[in-house]
Amino acid sequence: MKSFTYERPGTPAEAAAAVARTPNAKFIAGGTNLLDLMKLQIETPTHLVDVNGLGLDKIEPTSEGGLRVGALVRNTDLAADVRIRRDYGVLARAIVAGASGQLRNRATTAGNLLQRTRCPYFYDTAQPCNKRQPGSGCGALDGISRQLAVVGASKSCIATYPGDMAVAMRVLDATIETVDARGGERKIPLSEFHRLPGDRPEVDTTLRPSELITAVTLPKPVPGTHIYRKVRDRASYAYALVSVAAILAKDGSGRVAFGGVAPRPWRVEAAEADLAKGAKPVTDRVFADAKPTHDNAFKLKLAERTLAAALNQAKA
Ligand code: SF4
Repeated sequence: MKSFTYERPGTPAEAAAAVARTPNAKFIAGGTNLLDLMKLQIETPTHLVDVNGLGLDKIEPTSEGGLRVGALVRNTDLAADVRIRRDYGVLARAIVAGASGQLRNRATTAGNLLQRTRCPYFYDTAQPCNKRQPGSGCGALDGISRQLAVVGASKSCIATYPGDMAVAMRVLDATIETVDARGGERKIPLSEFHRLPGDRPEVDTTLRPSELITAVTLPKPVPGTHIYRKVRDRASYAYALVSVAAILAKDGSGRVAFGGVAPRPWRVEAAEADLAKGAKPVTDRVFADAKPTHDNAFKLKLAERTLAAALNQAKA
C-alpha cells in the first residue's frame, strides 16, 4: 500500500472541501471496498478524508411519509431497523443477502452504493481494464465473462454493478442527497446515479468530483409483497448471477428491478404493466436490448425463472 495523509473534518461541507482541495483525495467510511483496492494499488489516494464522525448515522421519518437514511448508517443497522423491516421488506432482504455479517456491520449506506465492480479483470493488475486504466482495453471481452453484464454494457466495458441494496432502492424509487465543497445540496434519483459505461467506464456514477453523499431518502412505503431473490454460485458471500427485487400486489400489478445483469440496477418500468401475464413477457421487454456473451447468455433464462419464482412466492 502506498503512503497517504489523513484527516477527520467536522462537517459534511468541510469534508467535501477537503477532498476538493487535495488532488487524488478520497472519502473513507467503512472502507470495506476502498481498503482492498488500496492494498492492490488499484486505488492510490494521496489523502483520506474520514467521514465517520459527521453524524450522518440516523434514520429519520420524512414529512412525506418516508424515511431519510443517513449516509453512514451501517448495513446491519439499516436491515434491522423495525421500520425498514415492516415497511421496506425488499430493502431489508436485499441487504442481508449481501456480503457477510462482519462486512455488513462495517459497511455504510453510501459506501454500499459506491462499491466498485467485482469484474475479476478489474482486480488483476496484469490484465487490461478500461475501468481501472482508461484506454488499456478490456480483458473480459475475450475472456471469462460468466459473471458479467448482459445488458447496458458497451464495447469498452461489460462489468456489472455488484450490489444488492441498490437494486431494492431502485424498485423503491429512492433519492440520493449530496453536499458539495461550497455547501450546495443536490438530490439525485437513484435511477440517474449509476452510469452506463459508454466510452468512459472509469466513471461509475453521476457524482461530481468531491461531492459527498449525505443521505438516501425512501418515499412512503409501497404496499404489496416485498421480495428479494438472489441466485449465486454459493449460498453466502457471493455476488448475484441474477437477483430480482420486486414489490407485487394481489391484483397482479407491481414493480421489479434486476441485479447482476447490468452496470447498474436494471429496471424497465414499461415492462411492469405485463407482470400479471407472467415472467416471460416482462423479461422479454426488460432484456429486449440484451447482448450477452457466449459465457453469460444463461442469465437471460435465469432472470425469467427467478422472476417466475418471485411471482409464485407472491401468490403463495
Ligand atoms: Fe475492466 Fe470493465 Fe473490461 Fe472488466 S469488463 S476488464 S471492469 S473494462
